Amino acid sequence: MFLFKPSTDNSDTYDPAKATSKYNAVKDAVWKSGEKVPFLALAKTFAAIEEHSGRLKSIEIMSNYFCSVMHLSPDDLVKSVYMCLNKVCPDYENIELGIGPGILHKALAESTGKTLAQVKKDIASLGDIGLYAEKSKSNQKLLVKPKPLTVSAVFDAFKTIAMMTGNQVQSKKVDKIKSLITSSSPIESRFIMRSLAGKMRIGLGEKSLLQALTQAYLIFKDESNAKLVGSDKFKEKLAKKSLLLQTAYCECPNYDKIIPTLMEHGLENLSKFCFLTPGIPLKPMLAHPTKGVQDVLERLEGAKFTCEYKYDGERAQIHLNDDKDTYIYSRNQENNTEKYPDIVKLIHEIVSPNVTNFILDCEAVAFDVSTKQILPFQVLSTRKRKNVDESEITVRVCLFAFDLLYLNSESLVTKDLSERRELLRQSFNEVEGKFMLATSKDLSDVDAIQEFLEESIKSKCEGLMIKTLHDDATYEIAKRSRKWLKLKKDYLEGVGDTLDLVPIGAYLGKGKRTGVYGGFLLACYDEESEEFQSICKIGTGFTDEDLSSLSASLKESLVAKPKSYFLFDDSLNPDVWFEPSQVWEVKCADLSISPVHRAGVGLLDDTKGISLRFPRFIKLREDKKPEDATTASQVVDMYRNQESVKSGDGGAEAAGTAGSKEDENDYY
Ligand code: ATP
Repeated sequence: MFLFKPSTDNSDTYDPAKATSKYNAVKDAVWKSGEKVPFLALAKTFAAIEEHSGRLKSIEIMSNYFCSVMHLSPDDLVKSVYMCLNKVCPDYENIELGIGPGILHKALAESTGKTLAQVKKDIASLGDIGLYAEKSKSNQKLLVKPKPLTVSAVFDAFKTIAMMTGNQVQSKKVDKIKSLITSSSPIESRFIMRSLAGKMRIGLGEKSLLQALTQAYLIFKDESNAKLVGSDKFKEKLAKKSLLLQTAYCECPNYDKIIPTLMEHGLENLSKFCFLTPGIPLKPMLAHPTKGVQDVLERLEGAKFTCEYKYDGERAQIHLNDDKDTYIYSRNQENNTEKYPDIVKLIHEIVSPNVTNFILDCEAVAFDVSTKQILPFQVLSTRKRKNVDESEITVRVCLFAFDLLYLNSESLVTKDLSERRELLRQSFNEVEGKFMLATSKDLSDVDAIQEFLEESIKSKCEGLMIKTLHDDATYEIAKRSRKWLKLKKDYLEGVGDTLDLVPIGAYLGKGKRTGVYGGFLLACYDEESEEFQSICKIGTGFTDEDLSSLSASLKESLVAKPKSYFLFDDSLNPDVWFEPSQVWEVKCADLSISPVHRAGVGLLDDTKGISLRFPRFIKLREDKKPEDATTASQVVDMYRNQESVKSGDGGAEAAGTAGSKEDENDYY
């Protein structure tokens, strides 16, 4: 039973959903200058975003809140931003909230005086741990008013919980969570429990968050901007200015550094303080798929380019700082240093004596030292991820380096690839089977490229990466650049590129799939609207082990109803819905216009989207987050690139949901 009466201070009247033109960042805030921001103000901001639909309205609500924080309590801005993202630190510090359900259920049971079994049952029937906590708190008899929670105190508690290790860690976490529940009001407990469970997605992606921050900053600096929000003039200004913040974030994805810099030196000066730094991962440059050699030549329009083997391993961004510390980051800026003690050791062998620090872009590939052969990605994925002891390593890796982004305290990203490659060659020494430069040839002739492509496949690579050498050949951080093209062997087989999709729902299994999910509803991600749009049902390509492990892990992401940012047709009607949490690589026969699915809706047709025909599960993409899934515009590009569409027959219109007969009838 709760002993305290929740706060009834005036934070309860906070309304961040007011139109910005009418919102007074100082008077409408419910706390005073210099005070800590009450957590209730942030909880009410999250609730308002959840209640209102539309990306622009979400940005407006968030920006109202941020603007008040900038005026009154700027020291709480970083913590507010982390809370919006359900993070406690930059990704590369590898500290995640996402507390397991066991601990959360126990804390709730002990706080409410109910049995564990009852709590679990009630949460399962509500489908949302946050709503359960809120409901329980509303039903409690309240005796005393607790001290209001602040954003800062909740954030600090989250960080402490996320970092707890050692003896009796479970009971220590339970105690800390109980004390948060005790001090919270119903609405606060909704968001506290969702955050702790790692399910705080409010439908405001990082891109929108950066826009909301920029909007708030522009109004904070010049109040008259508030009246302009929504006008074309302001939209243009916002797009330009938020690019400054985005660029700083791509080069230096660390809010602890960016936000104080923004407040102290302003948007225009961010680039002077937040730039590439060895030790801080940057968002990598990505490539566009192509349909064949001819397509490559057409796209590059006479520019000189190089063709490199496209290795099938794991992207490794390797940093060496002045203190000679080595860091290895994934495609997603996760810190993989612990996974590769062998690479850490190797680095000192391969650098030339004049090199003091660097950032290197490589692919780490499983390698058979005896046959000197590249091994498939599946072999690499069996390597342990944490606490790897070098003496236990059985899967050897070879690093294939393809770019150099920083050298001896100088950023190289604005130099052409030809120059960066030259510096790469001068600064590192190859060690056979351990560190090699990506095999490359500077070609221009169709037949020679075709031959090199076949050679790459014989050498166990996925195909070629084709990159401009001089024209428009800078390293474009965080961009899927048209100056980097990928030509995979899959395209040659006429199957098309694979897609990376997010399971948003599932169908209960039948027959031999009883007890696990038998089929899933997949979605792509629309970067513009920040929505997940349904693209197909899938039931093929899974082994029994895949189904049981995926079903078990997805159960942790169950939600009671589809999220407001899902786009789908009611006829799809899955048995359960998920919070976006995983990315699956999927292959398909082709793409077609669908009356049911919504991928890319509005881009080709006002009401119809695109669906996949005969989708097949390939693997879980552990290195991608839901927002890194294939985007709606990529899906449209893939649809348009199909030979059938190009030749004018428009592609088959799928009847209903695309999927094999076997999937639909037998197992779900
Ligand atoms: P994307 O990264 O484009 O979203 P993806 O993760 O599915 O897609 P791929 O389609 O396989 O990856 O292509 C890009 C990846 O190829 C790079 O992120 C990198 O890990 C890998 N790669 C292998 N060889 C090279 C190379 N020579 N140059 C650049 N990248 C390479």
